[in-house]
Amino acid sequence: MIRVRFAPSPTGNLHIGGARTALFNWLYARAKNGKFILRIEDTDSARSKQEFVDEILNSLKWLGFDYDEIYYQSQRFDLYKEYAQKLLDEGKAYTEKLPDKTGEAIIFRVNNQAAVHPEQAASHPEQSEGSSQKIKINDLIRREIEFDSNVIKDQVLIKSDGTPTYNFACVVDDATMNITHVIRGEDHISNTPKQILIYQALGFSVPEFAHLPLIMGTEGRLSKRTGATAISDYSKMGYLPEALANYLLLLSWSPGENREVIDINEAIRLFDVKDVNKTAASFDLDKLSWINNQYLKKEPLEKLVDLIVPLLIENNYIQKDNFDRDYIVSIIKLFQARLSTINDFPDWADFFFLKDIKMDEKAKEKFLSRDFSKEFKLFIERLEALEKFDIETIETSFREIVKELSLEVKILIHPIRVALTGKTVGPGLFEVIYYLGKERVRERLEKWIK
Ligand code: GLU
Repeated sequence: MIRVRFAPSPTGNLHIGGARTALFNWLYARAKNGKFILRIEDTDSARSKQEFVDEILNSLKWLGFDYDEIYYQSQRFDLYKEYAQKLLDEGKAYTEKLPDKTGEAIIFRVNNQAAVHPEQAASHPEQSEGSSQKIKINDLIRREIEFDSNVIKDQVLIKSDGTPTYNFACVVDDATMNITHVIRGEDHISNTPKQILIYQALGFSVPEFAHLPLIMGTEGRLSKRTGATAISDYSKMGYLPEALANYLLLLSWSPGENREVIDINEAIRLFDVKDVNKTAASFDLDKLSWINNQYLKKEPLEKLVDLIVPLLIENNYIQKDNFDRDYIVSIIKLFQARLSTINDFPDWADFFFLKDIKMDEKAKEKFLSRDFSKEFKLFIERLEALEKFDIETIETSFREIVKELSLEVKILIHPIRVALTGKTVGPGLFEVIYYLGKERVRERLEKWIK
């Protein structure tokens, strides 16, 4: 049975890189009918925070990456001590007390020379040459990588404060949790040979490894500065979890045939960790927005309403428990195909909810500096006189007016749009007029009649 794990340290939020690692582990487990294990690596009590554990758990849940088992390293210190003691007993590790520390550290003898003290070995590298060995990783993505144990120094297993180091706790856990495949970021490649030596010293079998390529930002390495990276921020920015998961997939993997939008269940059928790319992936927010738009277009309206209503309440565009849901559904329909994020909606559709619309000053200058009193007056009159007020009749009367006044359609369409919405772009003007209703249209146009 395939068993994989995602092992975040709760010293910060879950970011794009971590979420992709979680996704690829989760996918691999689901693809192979295996188990996905979540291991919280909270050995550093000073830097680990409950708020980060919560953020990581919530983000994984939001993305839909459900785990089968969960462990906290802080609850397993006895186990690490037990295995460190075993290595001590077998002469594969030694203790050392640093002058300013209270406890003793337990240190792994890398080149296994029981007689040579570490300092000595380091200052006389030729002495350790005889016992050096090649450590090979058969990486599932990057193929063979070879390291020389000579370049690896003796490793601290348990620090003088009694806490285990990452490399040691990681090996003890991966071995005792029966992890078959370690799938993690490429930044851990240099740890892998150190870990392999510990597996061997403890008599554990070594799992398979797959190191995922780096994710670069558009300005180089992904960093906190190149945009919001916490997964919880993407939710706040109006991205759908399905879209973000889809985008994360494309950072190093492709379903083939140039496909970019892929349902997660289909990805489960197609995914194999061996097919992950070796080259660095590049994170592009515009691409994510494009994918999000693809998902928003297909999103059931009722679900969209549920996501959008809280934003409208937050913006004071509607009042909690006192709004017309059907009206909101109609307005969402007007914008749905073009939304890149959920958050676009309150910005783009504000004029349907505000009494005093926000006016784009440039648009006003460009389209409303001329006097349109005559045209606007005529348009109001015709709208008032309409027996049947619907999108079609609104359009017909508009077209009659431009004909009568011998105007080009665009000469009138832009000024009316700007006067009604405060913007130069938006849904079809006749739909806008219909959903604003006669009264608001009259009020907003009258403002421009001198
Ligand atoms: N806690 C480590 C990290 O967050 C885990 C690395 C691993 O997967 O072994 O980078």
